[in-house]
Amino acid sequence: MILTELKCECGAEYRCAESETLKGEPGTLNCSSCGQIVVHWASPHKRVYRCVIAPDRGYPVVVPPPSP
Ligand SMILES: [Zn+2]
Repeated sequence: MILTELKCECGAEYRCAESETLKGEPGTLNCSSCGQIVVHWASPHKRVYRCVIAPDRGYPVVVPPPSP
């Protein structure tokens, strides 16, 4: 099993688990947040993608407290 991480331009992060033994299909991963293609692969191995960080949770904007 090969684990890799990918990041979409919109900030969403995906973890990929690719099997070296199970057969699968070449394909593409579309970002579940912005819909664009994050990655496409041609290897006939089983791949599973999981979104680990949604773009709105990746880097929360911290509002500084008002000065006294
Ligand atoms: Zn995206």
